[in-house]
Amino acid sequence: MSRVIVARTVADVRAALGGRRGGRIGLVPTMGALHAGHRALLAAARERCDTVVMSLFVNPAQFGEPADLNGYPRDEEHDLEAAREAGVDVVFAPSSAEMYPPGYQTWVEVTELGATLEGEHRPGHFRGVATVCLKLFNAVRPDLAFYGQKDAQQVAVLRRMVADLNLELELVVVPTVRDADGLALSSRNVRLSAVERARALALPRALATGDPETARAILETAGLDVEYVAVAPFDPPTLAAAVRVGPTRLIDNVPLTKEQS
Ligand code: AMP
Repeated sequence: MSRVIVARTVADVRAALGGRRGGRIGLVPTMGALHAGHRALLAAARERCDTVVMSLFVNPAQFGEPADLNGYPRDEEHDLEAAREAGVDVVFAPSSAEMYPPGYQTWVEVTELGATLEGEHRPGHFRGVATVCLKLFNAVRPDLAFYGQKDAQQVAVLRRMVADLNLELELVVVPTVRDADGLALSSRNVRLSAVERARALALPRALATGDPETARAILETAGLDVEYVAVAPFDPPTLAAAVRVGPTRLIDNVPLTKEQS
């Protein structure tokens, strides 16, 4: 199996990439707890790039609730093994102090797109996401960065940032990977009990209708606590929802076809 370089600092990741700038560099940002959704991003990057960098950083700046941050699943050994299997060349796994040293005070805010839907229910979330992604882009300087459709608003926010700040990179969006029963893979799914997981299946079922009112009725009938279900003005328009199943918050979306939107 190929060797993977693990870089813990910005200086180390730059040094690791120094000799590779002649080829195309791809970045796959992750928060770890890797599953088949992440693997699809890594495979897409491996296919299109000479060098694949995966970042592994649970970004405190994008979490609102301390319990969500502290309880976020972490298993670096498993993630490094998965990265190795996926043919990743460099894993950038910095500490929080490396990314946000004492005195840190610079933030990126995508003011409108970052304030609706997820942004409304998780204030500051997209400020954290945009900031960490810009920092990762500056550390790695990728030609392409790979993101999942699963987080459709994240893609919309980052596309806006790339355009607004004249960043020289292409964002590649990979379709949502689902379990056989339709539930979108998420690192948070491990928190669902068997009963909660069965109830959570109403989420993909509701979104598959393509209609926000029908979707809301299905979610409420299933007893899920609906935070929002709405057609988001992304490109393409996307039916997106966030629900709580017990203590676990889940999001999902489906891009709408021309006829649906
Ligand atoms: P995370 O580790 O949750 O921050 O996710 C890292 C990347 O993987 C993000 O671009 C996500 O959108 C993407 N991702 C997460 N779950 C899925 C999934 N089920 N299918 C495709 N991409 C995903």
